[in-house]
Amino acid sequence: MQELLSFSILELGKRLKNRSLSSEEVTKAYLERIKETDEKIHAYLSILEDDAINAAQIADKGFKKNNISSPLQGIPIAIKDLLCMKGTKTTAGSKILENFISPYDATVVSKLKNAGTVILGKLNMDEFAMGSSCEHSAFGPTHNPWNLEHVPGGSSGGSAASVAAYSCIASLGSDTGGSIRQPAACCGVVGMKPTYGRVSRYGLIAFASSLDQIGPLTRNVEDCAVILSAISGHDLKDSTSSKKKVPNYLKTIDRGIKGMKIGIPDEYFVDGMDPEIKQATNDAIKTMETLGGEIIRISLPHTKYALPIYYIIAPAEASSNLSRYDGVRYGMRKESESEYGSLFGMYSASRDNGFGKEVKRRIMLGTYALSSGYYDAYYTKALKTRTLVCEDFQKAFTKVDLILSATTPTPAFKIGEKLNDPLSMYLSDILTIPCNIAGLPGISIQNGITSSGLPIGLQLIGKPFDEEGVLKGAYAFEKETKFYLKSSSL
Ligand code: GLN
Repeated sequence: MQELLSFSILELGKRLKNRSLSSEEVTKAYLERIKETDEKIHAYLSILEDDAINAAQIADKGFKKNNISSPLQGIPIAIKDLLCMKGTKTTAGSKILENFISPYDATVVSKLKNAGTVILGKLNMDEFAMGSSCEHSAFGPTHNPWNLEHVPGGSSGGSAASVAAYSCIASLGSDTGGSIRQPAACCGVVGMKPTYGRVSRYGLIAFASSLDQIGPLTRNVEDCAVILSAISGHDLKDSTSSKKKVPNYLKTIDRGIKGMKIGIPDEYFVDGMDPEIKQATNDAIKTMETLGGEIIRISLPHTKYALPIYYIIAPAEASSNLSRYDGVRYGMRKESESEYGSLFGMYSASRDNGFGKEVKRRIMLGTYALSSGYYDAYYTKALKTRTLVCEDFQKAFTKVDLILSATTPTPAFKIGEKLNDPLSMYLSDILTIPCNIAGLPGISIQNGITSSGLPIGLQLIGKPFDEEGVLKGAYAFEKETKFYLKSSSL
């Protein structure tokens, strides 16, 4: 691998600025790297070669004239294929959108374009972000760069695998129940889900609107802070986006954690947890203590309801969001042979051919939970219980500044291992889902490697809109342990 691929955003930014490297040569090296690795990894669904080179040349012109718009100018990144980008295919990992060309840019995409980034391509994912392994992509699975027989996690599997494989510097993913943090943990990279409302969701193809958030996947915590600063902020096109001021997250990142109170929830040491992950989490607690953090045992008693709440609310919202794919306005249209010419025949043939098995399962679950007669028993109950989970966190955050846990109970599993067992697949997100239910910011960072050579993730959860605190904690841990410097041998 060429040395220039190993630079972080900040390191590369310096070299682009002093013009010892050009964005064009770096971009070309990344495009080369994609060709070299993607046959094995399959992280990319489309590669935007010409657009990328063009954007790199524009960035280089800026550097020449000392016209520098942001620390991301000329930096080659890639984005999850759930994000609309004008004039490019945006498939959401689904056959139903296989030929959909987005007519506009998602707000995060236009922010990154304005910051001068180079977008290399669109990344593979579980169909409509439903899954934890990337195996539910209609275009074939992504493989984990640390061990090709294992999944990269999901749903942002392509976003995590591409960063781990050095086929981009950083990427964007989306997280509804863990889809940034869980694949980040599986692939040994950093992944952050911001507070609900911190980042505009305009142009993110919706899965479950009260849970979805866009966030960065990077090789280290500083890079994560740089991207988060660039994509955050209020957006008139998303009324759920917050008007709170966006801090420069890099500015406060190195302030250390002396005196910070770190909560350890007993409920997050779940049954069936991999012993090496448990050990690594306990070691991380000690490290945080050495760094000056005050460790406090806490209880989040309603944690056990988080998964059942999620699997009512997320499918309910998804069944509503996905009703727009009717063969008329977006994507694939199929006529039913038996009911040729009938409108309902066309709807059902389009949806039957266009959606995969997991998406159909969620639509059925959600439609059932929202149907009259069952609405109160399932959906209303889930909403009420959601409040209890939120209150657990509110109480905990009167005593602590951060909550620490493992990101996943097990390392990346084998491809095929859980494909026919949806319940065991759902359990991969048991430690990440509560954070979405309560809309809190959470990060996954590297916490070492198992004896079988697979990455371990550490999760830090913060108070609403305290991304600064989360990043500070993550940065202090990363600097001390240096786990982030290990990469796969690919
Ligand atoms: N794995 C979870 C699911 O399948 C979470 C997905 C996500 O965060 N998008 O719903």
